[in-house]
Amino acid sequence: MIGDLFVVVWDDGHESYYPLEELRRACPCAVCSGEPDLFGRMAGGLPQRYTPASFVLQSVEPIGNYALQPNWADGHTYGIWAYERLRAFCPDCANK
Ligand SMILES: [Zn+2]
Repeated sequence: MIGDLFVVVWDDGHESYYPLEELRRACPCAVCSGEPDLFGRMAGGLPQRYTPASFVLQSVEPIGNYALQPNWADGHTYGIWAYERLRAFCPDCANK
């Protein structure tokens, strides 16, 4: 991590720099994206209320070898970023 950027170095040598705020706002979990959960219920459906802690990354846990789970300082740990999705979200690649 560099300041407010989350850095990923990929197997092919590409480096991705994700602004933490954008990463959090794009959180793929059901609560943030408003998608129904496994049981078809809407999880909350309320707009997220962000605090400064929402954009502070405490740690990132690897999930198997296919995803990363950011651990946000406000206690939000539901977002699971599959590597494919994370790579597709790379701000650098998106501009090409
Ligand atoms: Zn989320």
